Amino acid sequence: MNVLDSELAAGELIKAGYVPVTAKRHADIVLFNTCSIRQHAEDKIYSALGRLKHWKDQKPDAVIGVMGCMAQKDRELIFKRAPHVDLVIGPGQLHRLAETIDFVEKDREKRIEVSLNRVRQSHQEVKDSFEQYDPLRLEQTRTNPFQAMVRIMFGCNKFCSYCIVPSVRGPEQSRSPREIETEVKQLADQGCLEITLIGQTVNSYKFDDGNKSRTLADLFEMIHEVNGIRRIRFVTSYPIGMDDRLLLAIRDLPKVMPFIHVPAQSGSDTVLQRMRRHYTAREYHDLIRRIYDTIPGVSVTSDFIVGFCGETENEFEETMQMVRDCRFKNSFIFKYSARPGTKAAELYQDDIPESVKKTRNNQLLELQNEISAELNRQFVGKNIEILVEGTSKNASKQLHQIGFSGIGFSETKKTEKAEKIVQLTGRTPCDRIVVLDGSPHLAGKILSVEIVQAAPFTLFGKLDNP
Ligand code: SAH
Ligand code: SF4
Repeated sequence: MNVLDSELAAGELIKAGYVPVTAKRHADIVLFNTCSIRQHAEDKIYSALGRLKHWKDQKPDAVIGVMGCMAQKDRELIFKRAPHVDLVIGPGQLHRLAETIDFVEKDREKRIEVSLNRVRQSHQEVKDSFEQYDPLRLEQTRTNPFQAMVRIMFGCNKFCSYCIVPSVRGPEQSRSPREIETEVKQLADQGCLEITLIGQTVNSYKFDDGNKSRTLADLFEMIHEVNGIRRIRFVTSYPIGMDDRLLLAIRDLPKVMPFIHVPAQSGSDTVLQRMRRHYTAREYHDLIRRIYDTIPGVSVTSDFIVGFCGETENEFEETMQMVRDCRFKNSFIFKYSARPGTKAAELYQDDIPESVKKTRNNQLLELQNEISAELNRQFVGKNIEILVEGTSKNASKQLHQIGFSGIGFSETKKTEKAEKIVQLTGRTPCDRIVVLDGSPHLAGKILSVEIVQAAPFTLFGKLDNP
């Protein structure tokens, strides 16, 4: 979500006449797009702001801004902790970014633009204060022209007890299918092949225009018809509301990729209850079985929080068991971080010592990595279609780590024809990363590669004709 907001904000500023620079010393405006999902993310921003103090002293006309979730959460506190910050702008106010910067530059006054506090006002007032922000897209602000994210919904209504998202991103609001279609067509015209539909709980997408109610499966069908779009992805799904129609749409529409990110958070019923996730471990297992049974070749990934308030060894073992049973492609594992203002912070003690959180994190990660490696090995010797995303930066490091010297990747080497061969990365339909040698011109192509080696996070592929 933040990557997309940064892209859109950069596009907005470029349209307003600003020019992006690569070094701080050339900048007149520095903006931080912030996250508040865990304490660590906020600490990093405050220390980065601290490092700008000296710069701002030397360049008093420069503007420093904090946007995003931490802006919405900490508000005036940001000015207190970092008095050299000029503007604070929440995720529901991004449409005001350019005019707010203008204001600060002209009037030399601090400015704060945030949405209403979710608990204090009426639902409609709060909803209105989190305004939609998806201006038309600029190709140059994306990492590559052939992949793009498209937001289909804002906010979240789930209120999991540990999570800050509903209060900083506001109430759930689905965008209209017409707007989404216009944006996707525009992206297709810009050469975009792959669209990732994003939302905190994408499978709860619902838009009612008075006549008809549309769901995520309807959006898949609509985007499937857009010329030029070859791949459709979607993140993140919530474990409740994955109905058969949705799973069948993923199975039957060839452009919808067989990959589902559906976080479990814990494998223990008692922890899930304290987390207010509203499903049991059994129900989650049943969902995963239904996904594997319905969609051939599908891969599933998950998120887990370890060391949640009161998590016992037994409860943690239940999470280990879930990871053993569900055979995720990979899992993102987080140590619980108490977020002020959430139900968990109000009701429970953050009583699991950091050292225990760390141990559990490592244990779960180790187990998941074994499974990921095992699943990846099944691809060796097979041909698989990938979308080449670009050149690989750290693939050689990974190759070195797994002691692979098979087909000799190098940063850059020459063929007899003196054509440059570089290390590329691509992605399979089931979202596995493939590293391969090839010409940089292959970026943005969908092609078939032979998988020759596998590591937990990466497959290594070979082209007949690189
Ligand atoms: N909407 C998505 C995920 C949003 S946040 C969903 O419901 O799955 C991404 C991940 O951060 C979550 O899945 C969760 O695993 C993790 N997370 C959220 N709050 C956290 C907290 N307080 N401490 C640690 N991890 C947290
Ligand atoms: Fe947070 Fe739960 Fe909403 Fe995901 S579903 S954003 S974890 S409250």
